[in-house]
Amino acid sequence: MAKKDYYKILNLSRDASQTDVKKSYRRFARKYHPDVNPGDDIAVQRFKEVKEAYEVLSNPHLRDQYDTYGRTDLDSGDVSHGTTYGGADSVEVNNDVFETDVDSDIYEVSTGEDPYSQPGGGPEPGSDLSFELTINFENAVYGAEREINVPTFRICEACSGSGSAPGTKTAECKTCQGTGQVFERDRYSGEMSLVQCKACYGRGKIIQTPCMRCNGNGSFQTYEKILIKIPPGVDNGSRLRIHGKGTPGVRGGPPGDLYIVIKIKDHEIFERHGNEILCEAFITFPQAVFGTEIEVPTLDGTAKMKIPPETQPGTIFRLRGKGIVDMHTGARGDQHVKISIVVPKNLSERQRGLLYKYARTTGEL
Ligand SMILES: [Zn+2]
Ligand SMILES: [Zn+2]
Repeated sequence: MAKKDYYKILNLSRDASQTDVKKSYRRFARKYHPDVNPGDDIAVQRFKEVKEAYEVLSNPHLRDQYDTYGRTDLDSGDVSHGTTYGGADSVEVNNDVFETDVDSDIYEVSTGEDPYSQPGGGPEPGSDLSFELTINFENAVYGAEREINVPTFRICEACSGSGSAPGTKTAECKTCQGTGQVFERDRYSGEMSLVQCKACYGRGKIIQTPCMRCNGNGSFQTYEKILIKIPPGVDNGSRLRIHGKGTPGVRGGPPGDLYIVIKIKDHEIFERHGNEILCEAFITFPQAVFGTEIEVPTLDGTAKMKIPPETQPGTIFRLRGKGIVDMHTGARGDQHVKISIVVPKNLSERQRGLLYKYARTTGEL
């Protein structure tokens, strides 16, 4: 299967919410729709791509696979047969490289309400939650397990999440006549569009007698410890989806998902560029002239590297397969070593004399 960047096709960032996916799909589907572009084969092709991208990114299971493996042909996309790819429960990690002293700061980046949820009395899916998790360079390279505390909501047992005191009824929202949506004029374009009703938060109903236990919220905020398995090769901005750990659904609706957005700390030696790493190695002027063999740090320890005679500063050598394992393909990137020349300090009189003599013969001094 040819590798397509579905996010690019829909002009989305990798942490786009379901709402963003829907919005973007609608925009591009309208733009490339065959009816709008009669006889335009490129538009037809684009339309197909947009549709395919939407089919994957709007399906949590397929998107998950795609995020983790870069493709979705691993199975039929049927969630019910028990195999989940990606997410916290299934990604294999290298168990040798656990670190416990990593920065455990985790904070909420955004929460997304789904404005497309149906108002009224039916089940409503919960929102997705997104968190940023900062890990160190090695954890990103080798994978790791991290236990994190995430805020979660526990549905109020007293009112079953409705927010209304047991035995009481809700009233239809007068602002939106129970539809959950109202027309609003855009301040700049003057266009009218449907937006979520602020009076009832899109539910279409107003709680008349709030549940005493939860003050009408329908849920309580609490914290839950979740074990996150970080797969080897994650990069800055990689997203891990944990099914069902977003906010709970309302009236039997499914819960949203939790997204862990990975942020990686800089390494003191290695600079990362995708799956390639770059480091600097220092040699002396004579070593550069005559050539030498040096030892350079690698992710696995050290490696010996031959420096050919007359190597110029700034030359970059490649250590094949010493980079980072690709999360999707399993192929390992390369390490690049940039050569710098060090100028000797604290030379003895004799050494200075010899160097001076050398410089005189070349006419440099
Ligand atoms: Zn309650
Ligand atoms: Zn309303």
